[in-house]
Amino acid sequence: MKKYDVVIVGASTAGSYFARRMAEKGFSVLLIEKYKRENLSPAYDIFHMGKDDMELFGLPKVKEGDGIYAFEFSESAICSVFGNHPKPSSLAVVGMHKHKYCVLMNDWAVEAGADIIYEATFKGLVYNECGKINGVTYEKDGVEETVFCRLVADCSGIPAVVRRSLPDDYGIEKFALTPKDIFYVTLRYIDFEEKRSSRYLRSDFWLYFKSWLAPSEGSDALIGMGACGGFEQVEKVYKLFEKTVRLPAHKVTRIEKGMTPYHRAPYSFVSDGFVAMGDAACITKPNCGEGCTASLVLEDIAVDVASAVMADGGYPTKEKLWSINKRYNNTQGKEFASLMALLGSIIRHSAKANEFLFKNDVVFSRKLLGGMGNGIELSVGDYAKTLIYIIIGLVTGNIRPAELKAVIDAIVTSGKLTAHYEKYPETPEGYEAWAKEAEILWAKTGKVAEWDSVDNF
Ligand SMILES: Cc1cc2nc3c(=O)[nH]c(=O)nc-3n(C[C@H](O)[C@H](O)[C@H](O)COP(=O)(O)OP(=O)(O)OC[C@H]3O[C@@H](n4cnc5c(N)ncnc54)[C@H](O)[C@@H]3O)c2cc1C
Repeated sequence: MKKYDVVIVGASTAGSYFARRMAEKGFSVLLIEKYKRENLSPAYDIFHMGKDDMELFGLPKVKEGDGIYAFEFSESAICSVFGNHPKPSSLAVVGMHKHKYCVLMNDWAVEAGADIIYEATFKGLVYNECGKINGVTYEKDGVEETVFCRLVADCSGIPAVVRRSLPDDYGIEKFALTPKDIFYVTLRYIDFEEKRSSRYLRSDFWLYFKSWLAPSEGSDALIGMGACGGFEQVEKVYKLFEKTVRLPAHKVTRIEKGMTPYHRAPYSFVSDGFVAMGDAACITKPNCGEGCTASLVLEDIAVDVASAVMADGGYPTKEKLWSINKRYNNTQGKEFASLMALLGSIIRHSAKANEFLFKNDVVFSRKLLGGMGNGIELSVGDYAKTLIYIIIGLVTGNIRPAELKAVIDAIVTSGKLTAHYEKYPETPEGYEAWAKEAEILWAKTGKVAEWDSVDNF
């Protein structure tokens, strides 16, 4: 009988990190991964992590010439719809090849003692006589295998195969992501027609189009674009983007497509012998859809709590794991919830309003956009300036009353969500009532997918 303390489904960034950290704590850990090692993370090539984040989470380092490292840059800016009034920021970012970095993270987990079985597809959960999870079944080479454990971690990404297979009364939401809840991303790798004297090493982001021009390796740069709803929507926005933003002449050498969740996280991540993390728990940054390091905040908390609970051979019950929910929702959980609610409504504006707000440095201000990720504190003066320019915008017809209402609604609901997540229950007892109230607040927020930036141009 195969037995581990922890079985993790999915060996990409979220699964590898949890495996490494739990193995370091002395637990026996098994990762099961449906892909072959050489096919891991196939959707896209280049991805980014903040240099500070890599340091903070103690992630494996990369360096020039190792085949994983691609580039570094720290200059970036968010621009208006017509590419004007840039709001600069300077966070150091490392660009890497995703497949190779995932393989490196797998080896990093193995180095700490974890086992990995590739080409092993999760089939179902195993329950003990009390109906609590105590193992998983998976298929490898056409044979179904069973492995017993105390804790199962769902790190299977968007399909959330474990979370979605739980019994209805297991205390975890089983929602599947619909196209509206997914950020569809295309990466166009480009070569500039006029050769540059130095490598392109900066990133520009057009908030209105959810599009960016960023460095690449193997081509001069890449144009990224994301939209909720489907890849057809991305292409529709791309046509308008091409006409509106004049990029240097270029030719597209290849296109990659991928998906990342754009949905609030489940209200609870834990139940008896279970925890969900990464894209399987919709832990992505609401301003850009990035999830590789965002998920590690939840994972560090989960390692801390689960390792203490399981240290003496104990079973990780829902009650014992509950502080994962509390600690996460009182910190990053509340910040992501309020930002997601804010963005869902604040994007509901026309190109004219976008240009006006960028130009006058309000709402989309240098301070707000430049400071994203560093923590921002707005002064009374900032609020007063915003109010004055919004009135001017209304009087001059640059801002419509409906757009102003969307901003006000966004601020109010986002503030209420912050306060509500701060009141996340200490124990499972208060959960039902808390979730019911959260549901009412989320119903008031707009979804990014419900605003078509092309139709409302
Ligand atoms: C084009 C694009 C660019 C992006 N760029 C960035 C970026 O620059 N920085 C950043 O932080 N984020 C970025 N993201 C988001 C990032 O890719 C995800 O948030 C991150 O990969 C989530 O990691 P994960 O481990 O939770 O899930 P995944 O990476 O989706 O991994 C899930 C794993 O589970 C395995 N699995 C699934 N089902 C089963 C099963 N039934 N049995 C066994 N195994 C299974 C899968 O094969 C996979 O290996 C980008 C997303 C896209 C689409």
